[in-house]
Amino acid sequence: MRTEIKYCQRCHNISDTETCDICANPRRDASTICVVENIQDVMAIENTQQFNGLYHVLGGVISPMDGVGPNDIEINSLVERVANGGVNEVILALSSTMEGDTTNYYISRKIAPYKVKTSVIARGISVGDEIEYTDEVTLGRSILNRTSIGET
Ligand SMILES: [Zn+2]
Repeated sequence: MRTEIKYCQRCHNISDTETCDICANPRRDASTICVVENIQDVMAIENTQQFNGLYHVLGGVISPMDGVGPNDIEINSLVERVANGGVNEVILALSSTMEGDTTNYYISRKIAPYKVKTSVIARGISVGDEIEYTDEVTLGRSILNRTSIGET
């Protein structure tokens, strides 16, 4: 028994349909994109109920040690979404590891030309912690207390 796993064409979240429930929901704020490493992180952030925007699932972080470069994860499609307009803020919610930081830096450089507000979630999350294992209260607070790293 093997079921094919499908992903949202827009945010790469797991989805039965071409566009996932979150992207398809007109009550979500499409001008804010929260960038996460994997679908578990989407679920973790959804559980905090502190975020009403859309997501972008990278499917990993840049990790030269593991041979993962910027083109191996969904960064280009993120830049495309920003380039298409309608996005005011990109929140980088990656794990606070060296790889996460490298990826934050790379993405913020890539989207800088489009003049969107870029922020990273607050470090209520301890260094080295994985987003998906962070408790809901801490993670929720981290999203609310995010720090801007560049804006118009
Ligand atoms: Zn989606």
